[in-house]
Amino acid sequence: MRFTGLSIRDIRFPTSRQLDGSDAMNPDPDYSAAYVVLHTEGAFDRSSTGPIHPGSIEGHGLSFTIGRGTEVVCAAVRALEPRVVGRTLEEFAAAPGEFWRHLTSDSQLRWIGPEKGVIHLATAAVVNALWDLYAKAVGKPLWQLLVDFSPTDLVACVDFRYLTDALTPQEALALLERQAPGKRDRIARITADGYPAYTTSAGWLGYDDNRLRRLCREVVAAGWSHVKIKVGRDLADDIRRCTILREEIGWERRLMLDANQVWDVPQAIEWMHELARFRPWWIEEPTSPDDILGHAAIARALEPLGIGVATGEHGMNRVLFKQLLQSRAIQFCQIDACRLGGVNEVLAVLLLAAKFGVPVCPHAGGVGLCEHVQHLAMLDYVAVSGSMEGRVIEYVDHLHEHFVDPVQMRGGNYQVPRFPGYSTEMKPDSLAAYEFPDGPIWRNAAP
Ligand SMILES: [Mg+2]
Repeated sequence: MRFTGLSIRDIRFPTSRQLDGSDAMNPDPDYSAAYVVLHTEGAFDRSSTGPIHPGSIEGHGLSFTIGRGTEVVCAAVRALEPRVVGRTLEEFAAAPGEFWRHLTSDSQLRWIGPEKGVIHLATAAVVNALWDLYAKAVGKPLWQLLVDFSPTDLVACVDFRYLTDALTPQEALALLERQAPGKRDRIARITADGYPAYTTSAGWLGYDDNRLRRLCREVVAAGWSHVKIKVGRDLADDIRRCTILREEIGWERRLMLDANQVWDVPQAIEWMHELARFRPWWIEEPTSPDDILGHAAIARALEPLGIGVATGEHGMNRVLFKQLLQSRAIQFCQIDACRLGGVNEVLAVLLLAAKFGVPVCPHAGGVGLCEHVQHLAMLDYVAVSGSMEGRVIEYVDHLHEHFVDPVQMRGGNYQVPRFPGYSTEMKPDSLAAYEFPDGPIWRNAAP
């Protein structure tokens, strides 16, 4: 099955009109995607018994953005197209890690972002499309495809360059082999119960107090056990909003706080000493996502208060996560399906987190991120860490209606995806309506 080309579309949802997604750093996000369709010709044939998938199919992938700049990511995807076209799914499936290295190793493109920045967002969209295609070709949901891999095949997905001082391929193999005997039981458990989640739907910074209180009541009525709220714009506001939140959700439920990078290190420590009275489980993105030693200092200062540090949604690559883990700067590892370079690099971070014994709690929300990370958390549970202890996937109830195979929630748990692929495909009508700037949603928008 040969890759013949990419269709690239700039898709934007006008979420800023309702202040959905608003936080201290991003007051007006329009949830968006650089959306990629990978076209193919021919059948997928890896076996001597004939093709697994008899006809041409498409892989769908996206990189999440929040409005302006999506066109830059789309241009970066176009720049990567020659790395893919003419290659085959058989080549990708035979050595996914080598293919990933090839995709990220264009000697000239590498200058504008060696595994970071806009080029890396584009890498994520293309890699996600490749995995969606692979999973569709073998007729399995992505998590199932990956947990059915042998430990050796999973290790072959990862590019270990820059990791071997913390994790060698041999250590990764041993770690996966230790988990292999329990895989069948864990598959049965998530198939029955799903994977636990937390909600961020109530706590956007742009919502007024009445709306916050009403949404908190909905959260309680829906049975959520973990709730996250945005903080960091104004301390008096935060104290008032956290007071409302604790009044409504009580003290049994876990509360998480998210500052979206607004503080300097000493300010983060001071501010969190004030908010410690609300007994938060973690503080998320307290400072610059690149400041590993700053996160470590905050983590050390907050440990006596029983507050962990969480970060990762802006973690640009596996090297940054390696250092966060090596320096004990995080107590919760937040992978992002579209910030890291797609499934291969996420797997590298899952392995690192398992080695260091840090729970992975994926970042989600936005558009399509919940659809992505459910597969990755299930992979982590079944094949990598073997545990759901202290782990929850973020959930936000926005924009799922635009997906062909949207997430299914039951009692605050993600249910296992059942359709072939990575659940990343959007409905054709949604793509047409929200394409920027010429789709009807934008063409008819008031200036
Ligand atoms: Mg966040």
